[in-house]
Parts: sequence; C-alpha cells; structure tokens
Amino acid sequence: MSVLFVSDIHLSPERPAIVRAFLDFLSQPHTETEALYILGDLFEAWIGDDDPSEMALNVKNALKALSEKGVKLYVQRGNRDFTLGKNFASQTGAQLLDDEHVIDYFGLTALVMHGDSLCTDDLEYQKFRRKSRHPIYLWCLIHLPLKIRQNIASNWRRQSAAANSNKASEIMDVNSQAVIEVMSKHNVSTLIHGHTHRPDTHHIDIGRRIVLGDWDQKGWCLTLNEQGLNQTSFTIV
Ligand code: MN
Repeated sequence: MSVLFVSDIHLSPERPAIVRAFLDFLSQPHTETEALYILGDLFEAWIGDDDPSEMALNVKNALKALSEKGVKLYVQRGNRDFTLGKNFASQTGAQLLDDEHVIDYFGLTALVMHGDSLCTDDLEYQKFRRKSRHPIYLWCLIHLPLKIRQNIASNWRRQSAAANSNKASEIMDVNSQAVIEVMSKHNVSTLIHGHTHRPDTHHIDIGRRIVLGDWDQKGWCLTLNEQGLNQTSFTIV
C-alpha cells in the first residue's frame, strides 16, 4: 500500500488542462492507495463551499468517488483556498487537517504543512495571513452574497495571472529558522510541504525537507510506501 501527497494544483476554470489532469489522477484505480493528502492550494481561489461552478462540482464528485473507494482523503488549506470548510469535507468525504499535522506510516513520522506560514520573511503576506485566518474575517467572507464572492475570486485569479504570482520566483522561499522551529516543535526529522513551487529534497541538520511541486506544465506526486519517499512528475498536455 502507499500514501500519496500532492499540493498546489491551483484548479481554476481558466486552467482546463490542469483540471482534466487532476480529475484523471483521481480516477485512476488507486487499488494500492491507502490515503491521499492534499497539502493546500487545491484551488486557485475558493469562495466558499457553496461554489456552484461546474469545476467545483466535478472536483467534489471525483474526490467523493475516491473516498468511497476506501481511499482516506486529507486536505489542508492553502493561502488560496483558506475558506475550505466543513461542507466541502462532508461533500467529499475528506477530513480537513490543521495547518501543522503529523503523520505516521510505515515507521516514518513526518510533519505535513502547506508551507506559507514558513515564509516569514514576507512580512506583508504574514500580516494578510493573520487577518484572513481570523474567524470573524472568515465568517464575514463566506457570508457575503455568492455573486460578490464570485467577483472577488475572479479578481484574485486575474491579479495572480497578471502578477505571475504562481511562478516560483514570485513566491518567497521558506525561512530556514522557521523550518527548524516547526520541526523541533513537533519533534520530527521529516517535513513535507508545498507552496513555494520549488520541488526538491533538502538535507538539513535537523533532517530533511521535502518540497512538493505545483501543477503547471507538469503534475507532481510524492509517494510514501515501505521503500520510503519518492516524488515523481508527469507532463500535462
Ligand atoms: Mn500556496
């Protein structure tokens, strides 16, 4: 059996090839898959669990079909889909995880995170993060009329396309002190995260930091099984 990790799919109606590739990924037989972890930014802009778009419904249905096959589904919120909530979880069979979550499979203990909270050098973003994760801000946001939220989401998507903010060069990398602190706090020697769009494995004094790739020209998936961890990519056409 194996456990799969993906992040930063950035699903959006404006990226139909990515949506197709992800739906295709979910609809594989997955007979050997014990669990799928989605470590944030599944969506490019999530406006609330009542999103009536065809893309949202298709993705939710595909996730539900996967969890009904017996694959355990775990989802963390990213900086672009931090409004994912209880209804999304119940509609898909997924379990929403805290921002810092420790897993344990095949004798490996690892901390999984989206990774945005580690980019502590980006003071402006960290300020926005604190504000946007505040329960009152979140409550107000998801209770705006649907039409207004749809406009907000399409503005976000337009801005991120114009600013190229899905490019690794536009995203600040993690702060190494923040990495050491969070790994020490959870007493782990393996950290798995996404967000920075710089897929790699870094060996550091405290252990190793594995960065998941974002889905763009390529899709990425990290597999954990008895043999260990292995990240692979495939071309998206
Ligand atoms: Mn992100």
